[in-house]
Amino acid sequence: MSGAQPLLPGATLGVLGGGQLGRMFVHAAQAMGYFTAVLDADPNSPAGLVSHHHIRTAYEDPDGLAQLAGLSDAVTTEFENVPAQALRTLGAERPVAPAADAVAIAQDRAAEKAHFGRCGVPCAPYAVIASAAELAAVDAALLPGILKTARMGYDGKGQSRVKTREELADAWQAMGEVPCVLEKMLPLALECSVIVARGADGACVHLPVQRNLHRAGILAVTEVHEGNVPADLAEQAVAAAKSIAEGLRYVGVLCVEFFVLQDGSLVVNEIAPRPHNSGHYSQNACDVSQFELQVRTMAGLPLTQPRQHSPAVMLNLLGDLWFPQGTHAQPQTPAWAAVLALPGTHLHLYGKADAKPGRKMGHLNVTAATAEAARATALQAAALLG
Ligand code: ADP
Ligand code: MG
Repeated sequence: MSGAQPLLPGATLGVLGGGQLGRMFVHAAQAMGYFTAVLDADPNSPAGLVSHHHIRTAYEDPDGLAQLAGLSDAVTTEFENVPAQALRTLGAERPVAPAADAVAIAQDRAAEKAHFGRCGVPCAPYAVIASAAELAAVDAALLPGILKTARMGYDGKGQSRVKTREELADAWQAMGEVPCVLEKMLPLALECSVIVARGADGACVHLPVQRNLHRAGILAVTEVHEGNVPADLAEQAVAAAKSIAEGLRYVGVLCVEFFVLQDGSLVVNEIAPRPHNSGHYSQNACDVSQFELQVRTMAGLPLTQPRQHSPAVMLNLLGDLWFPQGTHAQPQTPAWAAVLALPGTHLHLYGKADAKPGRKMGHLNVTAATAEAARATALQAAALLG
């Protein structure tokens, strides 16, 4: 982003969005000696709480964006649903990575799927539904399917599973007839993801392929170790993720989610133009974390191929853990001390004051000498957490 001259420690790195991904970016940037600036309206945002500078305005606020550009030597984002226009505004003033155009594609499932097609990476059969005529013309072969809003969906929100044309029509109406994609429901064998980091010079490195388990549309567990995904599929996934990044002339950290189908084939699901929940294990299991990769790409520092030094299991810690057995009484602090007595446990909490069911409060990385040991410890930790 910054041409041949990297931004060295002592410079200020800005981030649009103050959630947990921004917080962990801030931690990584500060560890390397950078100053940080966060733009987020929430005075208690996880990243705002730990940043040198916190601009408390909406993402579209012209004064807020001008302040962020004024403070920062380069800017990134931690949230794909920030208006691409905000990134364009910033991009006129400062190097921005990833660029607004790449984020705009990741924000729109229809544009994203068209990009997969251009890269020659197969995705689920789908149709774009943005009008009553398109709804009527949907191929019956796409049912049963999943209707997804083209924009603003995350953690399974903005999705509806439909079996018949009637259910499809009702679901589209219930979504307010906004532009959607209908995807064929695929028989999944497993889900995995790959994080790539690409520099302005085109250098591209990747983290090992992550195997992901979702519960109720939210990532629950990520396992990363030798053999978590068959080697030939892992290789295909890395190659596909790199071609998707290259096709976007992407600069920054990009996560590509995949499905492995029951017939053993690989299809791409979606991309996230930022570090990803499934990459959190890299904080404790790799010699370079996904957040350090984000710092390096936006600062124009060299990228070296990350090396995983320990098998890892990551457990997402949702607010539900604060309400054992589904009680709705006062929240209770989970048994952190007991969990941390287990070897190789690394607790990451995001500084969110209120635990709520379904809210991402933190994650636990478990590292061990072997995959079996990491899994056994993760099971013990999960049992202690209830
Ligand atoms: P989000 O943006 O909420 O992460 P995804 O498109 O990744 O949305 O869907 C969430 C989850 O729903 C996926 O991780 C997968 O488990 C399931 N899913 C999504 N699309 C399909 C599909 N076409 N076939 C089968 N399962 C799917
Ligand atoms: Mg997803």
